[in-house]
Amino acid sequence: MQFRDLAKQYQAIKQKMDAAMLSVAADAHYIMGSQVKDLEAQLSAYVGVKHCLSCANGTDALTLALKAWGIGPGDAVFVPDFTFFSSAEVVALEGATPVFVDVEERTFNIDASSLESAVKAVLADGILKPRVVVAVDLFGLPANYPEVRAVADRYGLLVLEDGAQGFGGSIGDRKACSFGDIATTSFFPAKPLGCYGDGGAVFTDNDEWAALIESYRVHGKGGDKYDNVRIGLNSRLDTLQAAVLEVKLSVFDQEVEAVNAAAKEYNRLLDGIVKVPYIPESFGSSWAQYTIQLDSEEQRNHLQQALKDKGIPSMIYYPKPMHAQTAFKAISPGPSPDTSCPVASRLSNTVLSLPMHPYITETEIHSVCCAINEYLRY
Ligand SMILES: *Cc1c(COP(=O)(O)O)cnc(C)c1O
Repeated sequence: MQFRDLAKQYQAIKQKMDAAMLSVAADAHYIMGSQVKDLEAQLSAYVGVKHCLSCANGTDALTLALKAWGIGPGDAVFVPDFTFFSSAEVVALEGATPVFVDVEERTFNIDASSLESAVKAVLADGILKPRVVVAVDLFGLPANYPEVRAVADRYGLLVLEDGAQGFGGSIGDRKACSFGDIATTSFFPAKPLGCYGDGGAVFTDNDEWAALIESYRVHGKGGDKYDNVRIGLNSRLDTLQAAVLEVKLSVFDQEVEAVNAAAKEYNRLLDGIVKVPYIPESFGSSWAQYTIQLDSEEQRNHLQQALKDKGIPSMIYYPKPMHAQTAFKAISPGPSPDTSCPVASRLSNTVLSLPMHPYITETEIHSVCCAINEYLRY
């Protein structure tokens, strides 16, 4: 059994995919070929946002957003304590300070009242200027944007939606990557919409920021390629990856449906046995991960071993909260008693992500759940 069966997905779309990839090879427009602009238009229509700018990966996408906003030394950027390293790494890379915020136990996403406390603490300190909140759509579920936005508005923060895992999620009739002032996503192969290498994109309705991001992604270009008006990056999406993504996007809605059916089956078999993922009313997930919670670190680790013994892969996302990462020790204010993140710390000890992808079979789900049941009974 695969944790995320990308080979099976390829087999399902092989004919279209092979044709798309070979046509890029034959056309020989390997950088910024027509597929890149086509894909950007399709993605911005899908998400319902005016501008989509593709780039080299999801980490660069976040960096491009922070650069467009001029975030740097002296700025506080609020980041959930329970996320992938990139969400906070990019903040430090720009010279700004990541301030870690606790998450909601049930959704794994940033907790709006903890956000407000963290902003107040930074203001009371009087050293850093609160500028941005990075809200992460963890495991495919959009953060609680109505609540995050209310806090952001109260303190004049910009909202950066890290939708690296969230593409395909929704709140009501609005799609993920439309909730931030700027939103980003990643096309890393294992993400909900993945390519065959690295890729990413930035989304915004703001013309000025879009123009800046377009410049920053190609060496800070001005009027033309050899007129450089700012220090930027080399962060384009390859034509080949754009072609791959066009094919994947054509089956994406079906895949989101399929993972939702798989999640429903997992829930049916596991609810009441372990803590299953919670999706709030009117929210939709693209199920980048299906993550259960166990009672203790010991139980979680033993269950993972028991699954492994039966050939069932599982993953721990994430074993370490951001505030405990060595890289941030010297940079971030770190949790003082009133800004510690007890929920994130507990989750990192008790979460376990199970095999999940659009091509998982009912039989596979049943054998995972059987193994969990069996383990927990003894
Ligand atoms: C994967 C991921 C990123 C980074 O994306 P890359 O394309 O790997 O650079 C950023 N944030 C989150 C939450 C992610 O899961």
